[in-house]
Amino acid sequence: MDQYAVFGNPIKHSKSPFIHTLFANQTQQQMSYGIVEAPVDGFTEAVQAFFNSNAKGCNITAPFKEEAFQFAQSLTDRARLAGAVNTLKKTDDGLIIGDNTDGAGLVLDLKNNHVNLTDARILLLGAGGAARGVCSSLLAETPAKLTIANRTFEKAETLASIFKELGNISASGFNDLSGPFDLIINSTSAGLHGSLPNISTSLITPETAIYDMTYNAEVTAFNAWAKENGARLTIDGLGMLVGQAAESFAIWRGVKPGAKQVLTELRHNLAG
Ligand code: NDP
Repeated sequence: MDQYAVFGNPIKHSKSPFIHTLFANQTQQQMSYGIVEAPVDGFTEAVQAFFNSNAKGCNITAPFKEEAFQFAQSLTDRARLAGAVNTLKKTDDGLIIGDNTDGAGLVLDLKNNHVNLTDARILLLGAGGAARGVCSSLLAETPAKLTIANRTFEKAETLASIFKELGNISASGFNDLSGPFDLIINSTSAGLHGSLPNISTSLITPETAIYDMTYNAEVTAFNAWAKENGARLTIDGLGMLVGQAAESFAIWRGVKPGAKQVLTELRHNLAG
């Protein structure tokens, strides 16, 4: 049976095995999908041993996405631009290809929620790995403008310069922002520390859709705040998780699974 896994540390609570098992059932693929908690300083050895054992592919999550980028023998354009890899695939010739499916997962989930991206004014909060991973996919949808705002302005500037050839993109500090925006995406990790990115409530209008990449069993703090301040729609990042997994699955197996039913089951599972 073809073997796959997710690598991370910590990784015990990963939802990836749940998602990929449902995808495999749905598409009738014979495969197994496990979890590998590699030592923080031992990713390369662990992933090399995995592929030596004839495994076909894996997902990579924090803190190993940059190391996976280095490990890959060949990279897709979107992975090169992201500077990080969340999907490795071993080809029939034994070549290890690195890809990044986070942006495709986000765009798939936005479209499944009927959020229009073409000609939209998009604000992306945060300039870390998650933000960098989604910029090329967002720009491919030809928004009117993509504004990246970050607490540390210089990091937003760096991202805007990496992606400037791909579309209309600019950098901002939180205090210099002026709307309106059709879509605000929160890619900061503020919620993990119990806080919110410090932006003005005036950026939210009754036309603004909100996407928080964070997810948990409850409504996220950012989405609760945005709803209170009049956002028309709030979406959390669980669908992005399923979307990026669907894209990885298609890369490995050549068949694209449906994300919607799996997202419903995952949300049910998360609610416990
Ligand atoms: P990084 O550590 O690379 O970046 C963190 C970002 O958050 C930086 O831009 C940082 O700003 C900002 N930040 C942190 N704390 C605050 C705060 N209190 N106020 C404002 N900004 C803050 O993390 P990642 O980019 O890898 O991940 C970010 C989030 O996205 C995480 O919550 C992660 O779980 C989520 N994510 C979700 C995915 C999904 O599938 N749904 C996929 C990938 C990530 P500064 O530069 O100033 O420090």
